[in-house]
Amino acid sequence: MPRYFIWTIGCQMNKAESQQIAGYLNTVGYQATSSFREADLIVLNTCVVRQSAEDKVLGTLGLLKGIKRGHPNLPILVTGCFVDSDIEGLKKRFPWVDFFFKPGAYSELISWAQSQGISTTEQGLLRYARNDTWEAPSPCAFIPIIQGCDNFCSYCIVPYRRGREISRPVEEVVCEVKELVKRGIKEVTLLGQNVDSYGHDLPEKPDLADLLARLNDIDGLARIRFLTNHPKDMTLKLIQATASLDKVCEHLELAVQAGDDDILKAMRRGYTVEQYRELVHSIRRHIPQISLSTDIIVGFPGETEEQFEHTFSLLEEMRFDVVHIAAYSPRPGTIAWRKYEDDVSPEIKKERFHRVEELQASIASVINLQLRGWTIEVLVEGKKKGKWYGRTRGDKLVFFEDDADWLGQLVEVKIDKTSPWALQGKIKINSD
Ligand code: SF4
Repeated sequence: MPRYFIWTIGCQMNKAESQQIAGYLNTVGYQATSSFREADLIVLNTCVVRQSAEDKVLGTLGLLKGIKRGHPNLPILVTGCFVDSDIEGLKKRFPWVDFFFKPGAYSELISWAQSQGISTTEQGLLRYARNDTWEAPSPCAFIPIIQGCDNFCSYCIVPYRRGREISRPVEEVVCEVKELVKRGIKEVTLLGQNVDSYGHDLPEKPDLADLLARLNDIDGLARIRFLTNHPKDMTLKLIQATASLDKVCEHLELAVQAGDDDILKAMRRGYTVEQYRELVHSIRRHIPQISLSTDIIVGFPGETEEQFEHTFSLLEEMRFDVVHIAAYSPRPGTIAWRKYEDDVSPEIKKERFHRVEELQASIASVINLQLRGWTIEVLVEGKKKGKWYGRTRGDKLVFFEDDADWLGQLVEVKIDKTSPWALQGKIKINSD
């Protein structure tokens, strides 16, 4: 049986799309391998959201150039956000790549596979469902529900690479989730660059709350999450749905990016600090046990010490469970790249990054310490270094030791140890 290797970096959307590509390749008779060197077909699923990610893509393409020299018939495919509209230009720069296709452009992938004699059937046209032989490696699955982004935040390359928003019909998503549940999936995470704007482009104009209500009715499904949320698109209806639907987890990723109004304006985020603050208060009023994560960019062009302090104070005030921090990195083609000079030095960016990191570690350690002694439901996702691990509904990572096989089970764990990043405890009862 021929083997494929898929190399993936970047966001959850990329990981979900790699699973879909893997599902397709399984359908046409390939099997996965974990090594470039053993593969009969290689797919690179790329990210260019930061320079460091792009550098990794370029490094891997360089490595593949060498491999291709020794194996001239080895097909190499590249997808993800590295693939811009100038595919002819990419072909000239990387002649050892056989095929470039845009993120989510599965019909192009299938046509290419058919042209190569790899696929002669139409089975692979199941765009999203994993194939019949697919076994869930974990009880959790990521489901892209909306592609692209209409927002054009000034620093972001995503809308240029993934295009405008395109939602999948409600029935298609419901059908996929039902299929996954039959194969052992217990938790789904609905994905979109801006998941809150789901449905506006569909004829009936359903919204995310409507989709959540449909998924909540699926027997056998235990948990639903969705990310990433955009503060300007998070409606009261969606907050109320999160509060009232029993399978929707008390966990939201709500990227703020900065705590200063002038920086938010330059980022073109579409909200003020006060509007964000009110939104968080409203979420916490409706869902008191909510676990909130956010994203922060430090060192945006022109960010003064005072403006950074505004961000720092907002983080102190909001006390998020998790903060994902990035240092600004100019992305050619974006509005910020065209309009602003990258004038915050690397040293200052690093210092601000570390200050936020330290602050968040101290906040998260206090939040997590409060969970000591609690018994919490955990969905077991796997085993690492002899310990089972899984997540709570609030997305806290939990480890416990036990000899029995708990993979895919919902269990109760009594927490006896905490850190800013994870919890540890003892299994109590199996609630599944
Ligand atoms: S919402 Fe902004 S940051 Fe997020 S993908 Fe869209 S343009 Fe990029």
